[in-house]
Amino acid sequence: MLNIVLFGPPGAGKGTQSERIIEKYGLKHLSTGDIFRANIKGETELGKLAKSYMDKGQLVPDEVTIKMLQSEFKKAENPKGFIFDGFPRTNAQAEALDNFLSSEGTSIKVMLALDVAEEELRERLKKRAEVSGRVDDANPEVIQNRINVYKAETLPVKEYYLKQDKFIEIDGIGTVDEITNRLFTAIDKL
Ligand code: ADP
Repeated sequence: MLNIVLFGPPGAGKGTQSERIIEKYGLKHLSTGDIFRANIKGETELGKLAKSYMDKGQLVPDEVTIKMLQSEFKKAENPKGFIFDGFPRTNAQAEALDNFLSSEGTSIKVMLALDVAEEELRERLKKRAEVSGRVDDANPEVIQNRINVYKAETLPVKEYYLKQDKFIEIDGIGTVDEITNRLFTAIDKL
């Protein structure tokens, strides 16, 4: 299986690029943000819980997120591999993912990290707010909180994969197509 972690700050373009990668390589997209939003829409218990964190720009607790991710992983039939988008977002999640994948007889091949400067992120999130309808995109304080949480809790996950020699940084500035091509080139070299 080809398992890829697509990494980057809020607004880096993980969702857009994931769609292109799954299409080309036949992978399954596992986006924890999308799964939470689907649960909010469906008004499930998980959705209600997740919403109370997401609306403030905080992380949903690890235990809840990890359990949900594992159950979504198991739903896939004969997958060629997975794109993990928005997960792992903490070192505890990264460790849990390694243990889980190992119990499933597979592992992470690479972390591809989209590198985008903070100012550009703010601009993109502001623009996305006009079309996404996402509560967490509409409020500058919530956006700032998400960026702060990213720096404090999520950036250390980069070290986790660096240590395993699985970290590749991709320039996330340019047209969508340019960035896609950079990602494809990196994947084809694996
Ligand atoms: P973005 O990357 O643009 O911030 P996502 O759609 O990935 O957006 O996530 C939206 C929100 O969902 C996060 O701010 C967080 O509250 C919650 N969330 C998503 N993934 C995780 C995760 N792996 N662990 C904890 N919370 C998460």
